[in-house]
Amino acid sequence: AKDQGRDNYQFFTSEMNTQLINHLQLIQDLRKALEAREFHLVYQPQIDIKQGQLIGFEALIRWQNSERGFVSPMDFIPAAEETGLIIPLGRWVISEACRQLRHMCDNGLVGDNVVMTVNLSVLQFQDDELISFIQSNLKEYQLKPGQFEIELTETVLMENLDDALIKLEALKALGILISIDDFGTGYSSLGYLKRLPVNIVKVDRSFVMDIPQDKDDMAITAAVIAMAHKLNYQVVAEGVETEEQLQFLESCQCDYGQGYYFSRPLPASDLEEFCNDFNLE
Ligand code: C2E
Ligand code: CA
Ligand code: CA
Ligand code: CA
Repeated sequence: AKDQGRDNYQFFTSEMNTQLINHLQLIQDLRKALEAREFHLVYQPQIDIKQGQLIGFEALIRWQNSERGFVSPMDFIPAAEETGLIIPLGRWVISEACRQLRHMCDNGLVGDNVVMTVNLSVLQFQDDELISFIQSNLKEYQLKPGQFEIELTETVLMENLDDALIKLEALKALGILISIDDFGTGYSSLGYLKRLPVNIVKVDRSFVMDIPQDKDDMAITAAVIAMAHKLNYQVVAEGVETEEQLQFLESCQCDYGQGYYFSRPLPASDLEEFCNDFNLE
């Protein structure tokens, strides 16, 4: 029994070592990746459900590494956050997304009412230079503040609510749009969020994905949309994949939809075709 105990212990430590080495390797590869231009953005359309119009795009980061292949943002964003790499990486996302929107406007693919949305993590939101960085990019790419939106999760906002409130007020004063991502998955109450100057809430995909099979999810989704509207938020439903889901969301007066039903996130090279097809419909 004693031997077995020791073996278990050794097994445990070697497994931990492997995990640690993998993690450090990930961080090392991430550090090189920005300079090696291994990142790119894809853009997922957001659609006005009632009008059937394109209202914006969410920029989502992709990492393609020669050895690792495709790495999911869910796997590397936490490591980037942990090491502070998220600051330069997140800045690159903001600039690249603005550049792409300028390009689309210049080529007549979209009007100046179409909004580009980026995701911000905790560290980025806490960065004192965030607002001036956004402003200088809007200037450089000649975008109006209303053409730019940030997505924050409840967790990011609750990290330091007083600080968040000040920052959100400043962003709002500039005319930049703010949405709460993954809405309904956090622990915060709607009453809490009501204090925040937010324009849009995004109902999390986990509530949408089992519609219409899951009647509880339908009830929750309908209630969240109704409550959000009472508090003067507009609502985006995430992860819309089927016609039935869309019909249900429409019956709940949900404002906007995003998901594979409309389009997967698109590489920059596919945006022209998407916009042209969309404008024809
Ligand atoms: P998120 O912000 O909730 O983004 C939505 C995720 O759902 C994206 O995954 C998107 O590709 C996926 N999705 C969209 N429509 C559908 C659908 O109809 N069905 C299904 N099954 N999935 C759908 P992705 O691109 O893998 O991103 C995962 C998460 O990584 C994001 O979740 C976000 O939290 C984070 N992320 C992505 N890009 C960035 C970034 O530039 N900065 C930061 N800080 N985080 C990012
Ligand atoms: Ca998001
Ligand atoms: Ca989300
Ligand atoms: Ca999510």
